[in-house]
Amino acid sequence: DAERLISADKRGEDLDATMRPQSLDDFVGQKAARANLKVFIEAARGRGEALDHVLFVGPPGLGKTTLAQIMARELGVNFRSTSGPVIAKAGDLAALLTNLEERDVLFIDEIHRLSPAVEEILYPAMEDFQLDLIIGEGPAARSVKIDLAKFTLVAATTRLGLLTTPLRDRFGIPVRLDFYTTEELQSIVTRGSRILGMPLATDGAEEIARRARGTPRIAGRLLRRVRDFATVAGASEVTRKVADEALSRLEVDALGLDLLDRRYLSMIVENFGGGPVGIETIAAALSEPRDAIEDIIEPYLIQQGFIQRTPRGRVLAAKAWRHMGLQPPKALAE
Ligand code: ADP
Repeated sequence: DAERLISADKRGEDLDATMRPQSLDDFVGQKAARANLKVFIEAARGRGEALDHVLFVGPPGLGKTTLAQIMARELGVNFRSTSGPVIAKAGDLAALLTNLEERDVLFIDEIHRLSPAVEEILYPAMEDFQLDLIIGEGPAARSVKIDLAKFTLVAATTRLGLLTTPLRDRFGIPVRLDFYTTEELQSIVTRGSRILGMPLATDGAEEIARRARGTPRIAGRLLRRVRDFATVAGASEVTRKVADEALSRLEVDALGLDLLDRRYLSMIVENFGGGPVGIETIAAALSEPRDAIEDIIEPYLIQQGFIQRTPRGRVLAAKAWRHMGLQPPKALAE
């Protein structure tokens, strides 16, 4: 599965740094979130204060990191970036925090993966801009308080449910990102093709957009792969036909589902008669980590109405049966 187009992995195949939108106005989609952020940024700038802490929630590849960078740029402050699993010790976070300047943006990706000891350090830092450190050990240990610059924490998570309540409560500005529409992805793909210098017909852009699983990162990856196929095939322009051929060879189907999505659906049909089936059982049957299934595979399948999450487990909807060319059970057929 290392070859998956639809992975959370950010290495390598992203759109170039040059393809990342640089301002809120360049950023396509997420209209409501953008409008709100614009107001908060302007207000903070006007008062010369640090912006409230912001929490971005949403599936991988929807633009959380990009928005965090844009915010720092529009606030006219430094952008420092790290991620939950990278901060191993409380001291690592303390070092980061003490190096921040007034109003800087500190971005912590995957904040749900911070260790509890590190989270303890973060609370007073977010609330009072203070570090409470214990220096030394045993009877000689003493606690010291260090004042920090008033910074803005911008954090991202794929799963709000994994955040502790005290941490969640410390974000003044929670922002949920949604999957993108085909029209939005089409304009992202079109902009990307211009940057890549690749002639892309309108229907070609639409085809890639429709099969990008609502996700700009996937749109960027598909665009690059399609470009490779077009180059090798000697196509002067990427039309719908060229895009369709390339995407079919990548086993991305007409609705944008990939091999693992289809394995997920067919496994529930074949082994569990369409469900309900629990997430642990699904993870075991697919030999995939539960996290990856809940973070990457399911959100899009749920949004598209292929599956439903019920108290007794996941259930395939009629649409999923039909997508696999099967007759849905009578109880499901609307
Ligand atoms: P996340 O942090 O949510 O996983 P990123 O911010 O890293 O997602 O975005 C993934 C890729 O998609 C980046 O290469 C970025 O340039 C692109 N991207 C994300 N959102 C948009 C958007 N609204 N418009 C254009 N490109 C976008």
